[in-house]
Amino acid sequence: MSMKAKERAYLSKSLFIRGLQCRKSLYLHKFHPELRDEVSEAQEALFQSGHEVGAYARQLFPGGFEVPYENLSMEEQLNLTGEKIKRSTRILYEPAFSYDNVFVKADILRKARRGWELYEVKGSTGLKEEHLSDVAVQYYVLKGAGIRVSKASVVYLNKQYVRNGDIDPSALFVTKDVTQAVRDKQRFVTDEIAKMRKALGKGVPAIDIGERCEDPYYCDFYEHCWQHIPEYSVFDLDGRGRVKPFDLYRQGIVELRDAPKEILSKKQNIQLESFLQKKKYVNKAGLKQFLDSLWYPLYFLDFETFSCAVPAFSGTRPYQNIPHQYSLHYLKRKGARLGHRAFLAEPNIDPREELAGNLVNEIPDNACVLAYHASFEIGRLEELAASYPRYRKKLQGIVENVRDLEVPFRKKDVYHWKMKGHSSQKCVLPALVPQLSYEGMEISNGGMAVQAYFRMCESQDQSEIKAIRKALLDYCKLDTLGMVRILERLREMA
Ligand code: SF4
Repeated sequence: MSMKAKERAYLSKSLFIRGLQCRKSLYLHKFHPELRDEVSEAQEALFQSGHEVGAYARQLFPGGFEVPYENLSMEEQLNLTGEKIKRSTRILYEPAFSYDNVFVKADILRKARRGWELYEVKGSTGLKEEHLSDVAVQYYVLKGAGIRVSKASVVYLNKQYVRNGDIDPSALFVTKDVTQAVRDKQRFVTDEIAKMRKALGKGVPAIDIGERCEDPYYCDFYEHCWQHIPEYSVFDLDGRGRVKPFDLYRQGIVELRDAPKEILSKKQNIQLESFLQKKKYVNKAGLKQFLDSLWYPLYFLDFETFSCAVPAFSGTRPYQNIPHQYSLHYLKRKGARLGHRAFLAEPNIDPREELAGNLVNEIPDNACVLAYHASFEIGRLEELAASYPRYRKKLQGIVENVRDLEVPFRKKDVYHWKMKGHSSQKCVLPALVPQLSYEGMEISNGGMAVQAYFRMCESQDQSEIKAIRKALLDYCKLDTLGMVRILERLREMA
């Protein structure tokens, strides 16, 4: 590659955004894409939901012409865009522009009296700093390509919007004028492009892992860059503690066993000691206080939910968690036989009312309801109470009786070194009840459960629907059975 070509290496909008987060990510993406992590089903789903948001945003600017990605080279997209602009097309979706060897596709471009209005559509529920860089690089390219941009805006989801019948795009979105902020960033864009090109010409940048690996986006070279971190490392330490894991890492302390106990917080020291002695830690007084707050009948509740960027049902907001399944183990009194109930909605219906009706029938008014990370279950119960007045009183009663099984772990009244600093059920269960495992199950985590539910909604094949239903019921049942077993272990410890 000649020096000149290196200086003007090809960039696109997404490469620019990637390069802002990390030069190494930009380099690896361009020259070693084979090192990228596999795209998860959940990420694919996010991509799909972005399409849906984009489609609704176009309804704010109807009648536009789309410059497609499929079957057209970049050159052809650029030519088609130029042609449409020459022919006075007033609204363009995905028009393509190139300047200074930087290629961008805008979401929506509208001809106005004083020039063109640029709209960038985001599936988030607020304006973020990274959105400004995204629009700023588009502005840079459009201006360079001779397009007079009179206004630049970010269009994002209005989190207060409540669907009522058909989607109302004018209420679903917020349009924020960012013209001035984007103009103020032009110098920054030019400088960054030059720096990125320089970095691309020098081999893999010597950049170590850092907070940037997850900020603003979860980097897709994570596994590659973090492979030198051992199984038990300083990154297991409670990040809210006095000492930040990255502070230790930057001092060359990587192994958890090497963490200096003198400077750690109390909770971090509990973790370290437990790890060094390969023993669990129990604060009996704290644990007893928690156990004393429970009573019989005792119900173990877990919801499965899904959420959509564009609300799927009337009465719901963007990204609202919709409960469509629950599992309920119960002990009517001390020593009683363990019972189990479950609910899983039929596909493609609003599951909430039927779920709420079943739940209030199954949980007695006086029951103690145990959930894991209970704020989630409480949030869903409160939303159901707000949506269905006939169940409100009962649901509010359940909310008052909810206790959180995560509390002893979050407070570090109980800690097992295999929990690796976490208090989530997925980390606590294998440490305390290794015989109960999600391994080998068709569905083994919440993300897979959501994708399976969506697959069930799309399927026309009755045998597939039946198989997914069974896998979903098995998965959710294990969640509450896990809670039952964890509580048994806690009682033994106390
Ligand atoms: S994982 Fe971190 S260091 Fe590696 S490329 Fe991504 S952001 Fe950069």
